[in-house]
Amino acid sequence: MDFEAYFKQELAGVQEEGRYRIFTEIERHRGAFPHATRYIDGETQEVTVWCSNDYLGMGQNRLVIDAMHKVLDECGAGAGGTRNISGTNHHHVLLEQELADLHGKESALLFTSGYVSNWAGLGTLAARIPDCVVFSDALNHASMIEGIRYSKAERRIWKHNDVEDLDRQLAEYPADRPKLVAFESVYSMDGDIAPIADILDVCEKHGAMTYIDEVHAVGLYGPRGGGVAEREGLMDRITVIEGTLGKAYGTMGGYIAASADLCDFVRSFASGFIFTTALPPAIAAGACASVKHLKNSQAERDLHQETVRQVRTRLDMLGIPHLPNPSHIIPVMVGDPHKCKRISDWLMDNHGIYVQPINYPTVPRGEERLRITPSPVHSGDDIDRLITALSDIWSQCELARRDVAA
Ligand code: PLP
Repeated sequence: MDFEAYFKQELAGVQEEGRYRIFTEIERHRGAFPHATRYIDGETQEVTVWCSNDYLGMGQNRLVIDAMHKVLDECGAGAGGTRNISGTNHHHVLLEQELADLHGKESALLFTSGYVSNWAGLGTLAARIPDCVVFSDALNHASMIEGIRYSKAERRIWKHNDVEDLDRQLAEYPADRPKLVAFESVYSMDGDIAPIADILDVCEKHGAMTYIDEVHAVGLYGPRGGGVAEREGLMDRITVIEGTLGKAYGTMGGYIAASADLCDFVRSFASGFIFTTALPPAIAAGACASVKHLKNSQAERDLHQETVRQVRTRLDMLGIPHLPNPSHIIPVMVGDPHKCKRISDWLMDNHGIYVQPINYPTVPRGEERLRITPSPVHSGDDIDRLITALSDIWSQCELARRDVAA
């Protein structure tokens, strides 16, 4: 086989479809988020980032950075091994205690990313619980899908957020068959939120274990940032709560929080935990400072919600279509990969506004969009510039607007 020709041909295919991924090279500036420098063709451009998942700007928080500096100086750069082989640092243990407390669980277990925590956590449970059948929401994240696939357990897909469909599918199995229901709280592309209480009612009725991904909710919702399940007083009814330290907490890493035995079970059997170098202690310390801070400070969450509200209202005033949802994610719908890319390029080149186009397979074909994530570090001036630029491009491209309410 001519491997190189094959690679070229496949890449030409995605280019033709308009979904070839071009990374934007930026350097974010601490103290100046969401502003950054873009590197392009040997030149630089000052830009405003409107698509970061560092939702609260915690990546530049003084407490987080100080904690990281301190531990970097105290412990050095890396963990020095897998957790089994000399890599368990005091700061991993402290962070796990903080996370267990955040979710009101006995234990927590750290992974190198949210992706790995889903893949290893879900994969290990589904593979090791004898005869387990997994019920997976149709819009679950790739990391959950891959974990379930890896487990080789029987998998049933239930209609997105459709509790009746879940109930019907669970009822097809004998009461004593082990069942695991996997879903998210905030779905990151549409920004919709799962009916968690209803899902738990159905799972309890059928004796199913529950696994929730709160990656786009931890830090952001609930009085201590424990996620939507905390806000709704449901954490104690959920078997496993999974989260990331890479989004609202502004650092890196993933985790599950659950009973001591469940975490110990995953710790003992998950290859994605056992056979990989642990997170650098400085990152664990930064994440720990971030989690601790957001347990006690509501200011970031309040300002975040206020900025989201302002951006949505301004889009509505101009009739720029965006998916309505109860979360902090604002998907501005374009519906064509080429157009989406052109709009994104135009915003960047003409206004220094960075919003990454979102294409298949991240969203279905025909649902291409600009995913805008306002944050507490966007100013009124940043919002004005975003809205003016979007309105401009909407007019230039004669894109459809919604009726504007009088
Ligand atoms: N779960 C969901 C729903 C996600 O959207 C993502 C990443 O975007 C992950 C898990 C993976 O988390 P991480 O970025 O920490 O690997």
